[in-house]
Amino acid sequence: MNKKFALLLITTGILGGCEQFNQESSSQPNQVSQTSSSIESLTPEEEQEQAAEAEQQAMLDTLPAVSTDDWNLNLVNNWTKIDESVEIPLKELPEGYPVDERIFLVDERIIPDYVAMIDAGKEAGHEILAVSTYRSVELQTTNYNSRIQQYLDEGKSQEEAVKLTEDYIAIPGGSEHHTGLAIDVMDTEWVNTGKGLIAEFDTQESQQWLVEHAAEYGFVLRFPEGKKEATGIEYESWHFRYVGKENAAYMKEHDLALEEYIALLEEAGK
Ligand SMILES: [Zn+2]
Repeated sequence: MNKKFALLLITTGILGGCEQFNQESSSQPNQVSQTSSSIESLTPEEEQEQAAEAEQQAMLDTLPAVSTDDWNLNLVNNWTKIDESVEIPLKELPEGYPVDERIFLVDERIIPDYVAMIDAGKEAGHEILAVSTYRSVELQTTNYNSRIQQYLDEGKSQEEAVKLTEDYIAIPGGSEHHTGLAIDVMDTEWVNTGKGLIAEFDTQESQQWLVEHAAEYGFVLRFPEGKKEATGIEYESWHFRYVGKENAAYMKEHDLALEEYIALLEEAGK
């Protein structure tokens, strides 16, 4: 229990002078702020603020024992470029897991959990395939430039073309695919529709199964709906990212994007 909470409980216990209440309040911390507010006459805003503070503190107190320096928390986004001096142990995904015969590289440390997840999906009736994995900064540069060109060819202005491109394509050096920890997926049925990587992939049961179970294998949906402010990237129903089981469970429970989670870890000095 954090100090603030403990103090609140003690204060309430003394002021309330009621053992019965005291007992209840210690098992139902939510009531503490209500009761103390009626005593201290907090405004609804203050009450809300207090509740938010308590919630924030509770989140800090329950963070897993991890560090933002951990390899599986490597944060790369449009504001944080990949540190290319750190070598990534790349290895090819085993046969049968990628969509075709090309070489699909990932950080070898994520392969056992990835394979276990895909195998579990198969058991549940979903044929999930990796369609994009590790990407070098050079390849990202090519993708980025060719997408801008595509928009320019459609008659968009340079500014519009860059904006539209950056909604989905990270700037070179800023793609999570540089880490070897990100995997874009589809399922066999979706591949056959030829629709590609679009948000509507989330109408597939395989995608829904992944969202539900990925954390059990250390993966999270990296760019969820409604998190663009934190991630800088629009909703991507197909992009999963390895963070390890502990981190994934916490992020899922508290509905945190990786940026939000790392900010919380930093606040806790981890
Ligand atoms: Zn991706």
